Amino acid sequence: MSPKRTHHTPLPRLVVISAPSGAGKTTLSSMLLKEFPQLQRSVSTTTRPKRPNEVEGTHYHFVDDSTFQDKINQNLFAEWALVHGKRYGTTRATVDSLLARGKNPVFDIDVQGAMNLQALYGDRVLLIFIHPPSMEALKERLVQRKGDSAESIENRLNNAYSEIKWSQKYDYQIINDNLERAFQELKTIIQHECLEKEK
Ligand code: ADP
Ligand code: 5GP
Repeated sequence: MSPKRTHHTPLPRLVVISAPSGAGKTTLSSMLLKEFPQLQRSVSTTTRPKRPNEVEGTHYHFVDDSTFQDKINQNLFAEWALVHGKRYGTTRATVDSLLARGKNPVFDIDVQGAMNLQALYGDRVLLIFIHPPSMEALKERLVQRKGDSAESIENRLNNAYSEIKWSQKYDYQIINDNLERAFQELKTIIQHECLEKEK
């Protein structure tokens, strides 16, 4: 006979962090991952070119169009989407291996990916949206980051408006004006929604 479970242990939550490009989600999620070893980044696959500071396998798996298409054909993606004209996706293997190790996967993915993961994993998905303090600040951050062409920056700014409209579907919204304050808010959410409830 198997031992009786005395209390209910919920399954680990999947943490999705979305934001218009340049709002600071990479910065904030990196700070979060340093603070909580329980959280592990889900590394996406993309067809966009690598930025100078990026490392293959750490920031993304960088692939060409035909490799990405092969993965779609083999049904290897839990979700994928066309974002700013390039393809980005989360493989099932990435999610499964993090969950199998008892980790909380953290996804830096767009609104389409967030909705698709929620359709797959339901209430286990925690949706957090990061807002820039203003559109002017967003543009300034994109320019200062120096990773994208002028055309790509223009495209990212245009897309920001429609992404922000989706933010009402998210469980929590954070305004990233002061980085430390935004980080404190994010930590409080994670502590409350993931770490305490899963104990
Ligand atoms: P995202 O991942 O959302 O595209 P990043 O994390 O790359 O955005 O941030 C875009 C730029 O803005 C980076 O150069 C980053 O250092 C800067 N940044 C992030 N948060 C803040 C903040 N609160 N105040 C000022 N600059 C910020
Ligand atoms: P960037 O090119 O700035 O790294 O990312 C561009 C956008 O693609 C961001 O909004 C980011 O959240 C999104 N993105 C990154 N990886 C994935 C993914 O695996 N799936 C989806 N749907 N979006 C992703």
